[in-house]
Formats: sequence, C-alpha cells, structure tokens
Amino acid sequence: MSLVFSRTRSLVPGKEGRMSDAAAASPLKHFVTAKRRINGIFEQLSSYISEGAVFLEEIHLSKEHDPVIDEKKVTEVKDYTANVAGIAEVLARRHMKVAFFGRTSNGKSSVINAMLWDKVLPSGIGHTTNCFISVEGTDGGEGFLTTEGSEERQSINTVNQLAHALHQTANLGTGSLVSVFWPKSRCALLRDDLVLVDSPGVDVTTELDSWIDRFCLDADVFVLVANSESTLMVTEKHFFHKVSERLSRPNIFILNNRWDASALEPEYMEEVHRQHMERCASFLVDELKVVARDQVLDRIFFISAKEVLSSRIQRAQGLPEAGGALAEGFQARLFEFQNFERRFEECISQAAVQTKFEQHTLRAIAIAETMRQVMDSVHLTAADHRQRCEDEREEREDRVAFIQQQLKLLSQQCRDRIGKLAELVEKKVSEAMLEEIRRLAHLVESFQCEFHSSPVVLKIYKQELHKHMEDGLGRNLTDRCSNLVNSSLQTTQEDMVEIVKPLLPLSMRTMADTLTSRCCFNLSYELNCEHLCADFQENIEFRFSLGWSALVARYLGHDGARHALCSVPGQVARGLALTPVNPSLPAPPPGPMSQEELMVSMVTGLAAPLARTSMGIIMVGGLVWKAVGWRVVTLSLGLYGLLYVYERVTWTNRAKERAFKRQFVAYAAEKLQMVVSFTSSNCSHQVQQVLTGTLARLGEQVDETRQGLEADVASLVRKVQVLENVGAKAKLLRNKAGWLGNELNMFSHQYLQPQEQ
Ligand code: GDP
Repeated sequence: MSLVFSRTRSLVPGKEGRMSDAAAASPLKHFVTAKRRINGIFEQLSSYISEGAVFLEEIHLSKEHDPVIDEKKVTEVKDYTANVAGIAEVLARRHMKVAFFGRTSNGKSSVINAMLWDKVLPSGIGHTTNCFISVEGTDGGEGFLTTEGSEERQSINTVNQLAHALHQTANLGTGSLVSVFWPKSRCALLRDDLVLVDSPGVDVTTELDSWIDRFCLDADVFVLVANSESTLMVTEKHFFHKVSERLSRPNIFILNNRWDASALEPEYMEEVHRQHMERCASFLVDELKVVARDQVLDRIFFISAKEVLSSRIQRAQGLPEAGGALAEGFQARLFEFQNFERRFEECISQAAVQTKFEQHTLRAIAIAETMRQVMDSVHLTAADHRQRCEDEREEREDRVAFIQQQLKLLSQQCRDRIGKLAELVEKKVSEAMLEEIRRLAHLVESFQCEFHSSPVVLKIYKQELHKHMEDGLGRNLTDRCSNLVNSSLQTTQEDMVEIVKPLLPLSMRTMADTLTSRCCFNLSYELNCEHLCADFQENIEFRFSLGWSALVARYLGHDGARHALCSVPGQVARGLALTPVNPSLPAPPPGPMSQEELMVSMVTGLAAPLARTSMGIIMVGGLVWKAVGWRVVTLSLGLYGLLYVYERVTWTNRAKERAFKRQFVAYAAEKLQMVVSFTSSNCSHQVQQVLTGTLARLGEQVDETRQGLEADVASLVRKVQVLENVGAKAKLLRNKAGWLGNELNMFSHQYLQPQEQ
C-alpha cells in the first residue's frame, strides 16, 4: 500500500530571519520558562519545607503543651528537606538533550554546525575518535572541553583547535564522552539549555547497548541523520529498534541529508523524495510505532546541512547567503531545514518539560499536599487543645469563685455547729459538776489516810485529800461527760469535714478524713483542789455540845451566836490554825472559839454588866433556888458534868477525822460551787479550740486547693497562648502549602498537560 503524504505547513521559501529574532521566538523558551518557573517553585518549596520541619520539631519537643503531632510525621517532614533540596538541585541542572545518530559521514556534525550557525564541530574528516561529543553553552567568553572523568579544561576557540584536541583524545576508549562548552554569546541555540550530542557512526560499533545506557536514556529527541543518496541502512534501523525497546515512544526525527545532490538529477527528485518519505514513514509509524501517521510529516525532512551551514556562515559574516556555490532549489531546502528546526524545538521543549519535570512536579504536589495535611492537622489539634485548655481554665476559675463563696458560707455553718456543741458541753459539765458536788461527801468519805491532829500530819493529810478529791472528781466527771463530749465532738468534726469536703479535690478528701480519725480528745477539768481549798481551816478542838457557844449557836443560829459572842467587849484573840495557812490568801474568817476562851470571854464580858446588875442576879438566883430546890440543881449540875466527861472521853482521833471531813466537805462544796461556771466554760472552750483547730486545718486544705487551682489557671492561660501561636503558625504554613500546591498544579496544567491546539 502506497503512502500519500501532503505537508499542511507552508513551504514558501523566503529569507532566513536573524539569529536573535529567531531565538526570541524560539519554542525552546517553553522549556526555559518552565524550568525557571519550576525551579522558583522548588526554591520556595525547599525553604518552606525547612521552615515547616523546624516548626514541627520545635512543637514536638515543646513541653509547654500536649503533643500536637506524632514523631513519625516530624521525621517524615524532616526527610522531605533533603529530598526536595535534592530534586531542586537536579532540576537546576536539567537541560534539553538531542542526540544525533547515523552512519559515519552522513553529515551529523554538519547538521549540528548548521543548527549552531557556526562551524563548531569538525566535519568532513570522519570521526577521528570514537567519542561522543556533547556541545552545550557556557557563560564565559571562551570555549573549552573536558573529557570524561577529568575536571581539566582544554581551551578551544576554533574548530581547528577542537579537531586538534579531539585528535589528542583519540586514545580515549570507544564510546567515551568529550564535553564541549561553547560560548553562549556565539550561539543563540545554546542559550536555551540545549545540549547537542554527536555520536560516532552506528556502523562502526558493536556497543549499541552500552551507548543507549549511557547517552540515550536521558535524551529528549533523537535525530537520525540519513544519507538521501542511499536508502536507510539496517544498522541505522537496528539501532533505533533498540532505542525504542528501551524507551517508551522516543521522539525520533529523520533528516534525509545531502538532498542537494538530488538537484543534480531533477527528473528523479520527486520519485526519490516519495520513496524516501514512504520508507522513513513506514519505519517510524509501522516498525517503531513512535509517531502517529498524521504527524509523521513533522518528523521527516529533506535537507542539505552543508548548504545551510555555508549560507549561515556567509550571513554571519555579512556576506550574501548564496555566496557559495549553491545548487538548484537551495531556498526550498533551507526552508525545509528551518521547518525541521521549528518542529524539533517544539518537540524537544515539550518532551523535555514532560520528561524532566513531570515526575518531580507530581512528587512536589504530593509533598505539598502532605505538608498541607500535616499543618492542617497541627492547626486543628492545637485549636482542639486550646479549646480544651480554655474550658479547663473556665472550669477552674468557676471552681475558685465557688470555693471562695462556699468557704464563707460553710465556715459560718461550721462555727454555728461549734457554738452549739460548746453550749452543750458547758451545760453537761456544769450539770456533772453539780452532781459531783452533791456527792462530794462520799468521795471525801472514801479517802483513807492516817489522821492526826498534829500540824505536820494534818498538812500531809490535806495534801493527800486534795489529790484524792481532784483525781476522784476528774475521774467521775470524765465518766459522766467524756462519752457524750467525745461522740459529739467526733460527730461535729465529721459533719464539718463532710460540709467542707465538696470543696476539696478527690485526692485531698482522704486526707481530710484523717482530721477526724486522729481525734482522741480528753477534757481537762483543771480542778486544782490544792489551790481551791488552800485556805480551808479545820476546827477539831473539843467542843462540849452543851457549852455556851453551842447553846447560843443552837438557839440564835451560828451567826447570831458569833455576833453575840464577838460583840463581847475585850474578846480574847482567836487561837492560831493548827496547820499553816497560805500566806497569800486573805486572813481566814474568824472561826468558832474554844470552850475556855468562850468562858473567859463570857465571864469577863458579863462581869461588868452583871456587877452593874448584881442585884438583879441575886434576885434571879434566889427565885430559881426557891422554885426548884437545891437537890434538883445539884442533880442537874451532876448530869451536866457527866455529859461533859463523856463527850470529852469520846473525842478520839476518829471523831476528829470525821469532824475534819465534814468541815472539809462543806468548805470544798462551797468552793467548788464557785468554780462550776468557770470549769464548764473552760471545758467548752477546750472543745471550741479543738473544733476551731479542725476548721482551720480544713480551711488550710481548701486554701491549698484554691491556690492549686489558681496555679492551674495561670498555667492554662500560658498554654492557651502557646497553642494559639502554634495554631496560627500551622494555619499560615498550611495556607502556604496550599498556595505551593496551587502553583505546582498551575505549572502542571500549563506545561505538563496536553494543550488543545
Ligand atoms: P559525520 O561523520 O556524520 O559527522 O559527517 P560530516 O558532517 O563530517 O560530513 C561528512 C562529509 O559530508 C563532509 O565532507 C561534509 O562536507 C559532507 N556533507 C555533509 N552534509 C552535506 C550535504 O548536505 N551535502 C553535501 N553535498 N555534502 C555534505
């Protein structure tokens, strides 16, 4: 089946534009701008990742708030730093690469020179070496070359110098690379990141596989320079079959060079053109399947590199471009060459953008998205934590206010309870004391100790009695009150703890319970009997029951008798107490007088009035004598005397002790009555003190709780501030990641996705 090809593009020959004009409109700019753009984005992405990694590490290590990110994410982002920096570095070095293949002397070097508008590579001498030669631009004013594995630069300013240098490197192995750096100022094409690679002829090597590995895998476009004077050779086809096996749909152009030779046989030109076109198209479309049939015309060209180079050199020198001996149809071939250049540039820039940037862009989009998600998660977590801290802070502030308010109320409640208990204790102790005073005689009676009226023995007796009474009273009062007091105290304490407990945290509640359990309280009655009865003055002298003082006391009462007796002029001074009296105490009240004192007092007291009224006495005595008779008087006096003797005999030590105890009971009861109110209020005070102490300790615990809460509030306020900053920064970084993602997507849309023509 014959193929019919028709070029849709204009083939109108015309004058070739100036280098600079052509360069300005060069499709290669597509790659250049794409590269600049993607490098810019990667630069920003790189510094963004560094900033993000530092931020995440800081917040991960921060002790000021709860973790808002896990370690795995931090490490992942940290790894991105080197990753992105590495990609950015690779991208900065990316360039478009075109590799020229074909048999020796097909004109590969001539095509490259024609494209460069200068005789850069030596041609026509065959390859003096089996090296690959790459040509790329350098910013310096001088050209140089480097050989593989060496940093050394060999200066080359002319093609002859290069030819000489290549001759020197002839001993380099087959397939080694010589890199030629040519000043960009001398070649417009080299300004656009294009690297052109010339190869030894495919017909001279058996190392096609290693060539492909080393020089073809990163090539964006392959140009097969064929000789139009012959047909495509098997070696050439074989090489490209291998290339298309290794690469998916490589971009291959076929240049049928030396088309100027066809001008020599114009009658066959069209037929030859058709045949070449058919074979080349069949090779690309059917054999290699690297291009669609409707696009194959943009891949096959009929050119004369020698003519184009020569005309361009002429033009560069300001000479007429057809100055050299040019064959018929030059303009058409020149135009074909220009078309090739245009299609080639469009193809290589598009392909290079795709192959050099697509994977990295996709990777960067994924990284930006991950960063956006990480920052978003940090932002949300920080906001969540912040909200929690704010809730906690509010809750604690409310609790502080509640505690302060409740403490006042509950303290008042506790004080009321304390007051009530104090009243109860006072009443109970008072009642118990009165009962004990009533039973004091029994207590004193139960005292057993040797008694004697001698002052020394009496002193010891009193001391022991005081002690006995004090112990006994204390014991009895304790028996009467302690159960009630202790249980009431315990209950009140427990109630107080229960009242205050809700203000305490759970951890302190058990501690509050110990305030009651450790209570083991005994009331101290402080009945200092020694002191209380210090001025007790016993009277254990014998006293006749029918003596004057007794009779007077019996009929006039004790006070009346004393008054009567004491009012006797010249009263005899009262005898001293048998036991020493506390000197600090006021002088004891006058006690009853002895029988003899009374008699003397009576006699001396009555002598004067009686003397004054002796007449009256004689009259009374005479009347009695006359009335009862002398026998009755004598009998009475005898009985009176007997009674006196009897009483005198029975006035033993025991009787004295009984009298002593009786007097002591009366005295002590009176004294104790006086201290009932004092003692009971003292006991009440003791209870109050215990409870007030408990209340104070509870208050301390509440205060401690409040202080703890206030410290929590302060720490939460700080935390909220820190989390707010973290959240704000994470939000900013999230937005930045979003923006970078957008930039990358826009880049992808503009440069990587197939554009509608
Ligand atoms: P290479 O070995 O493939 O690099 O081929 P060269 O570029 O060195 O060219 C080999 C010879 O072919 C040189 O003498 C060139 O002048 C000549 N030559 C290259 N291109 C053309 C062309 O288009 N027409 C003619 N007539 N000769 C050419």
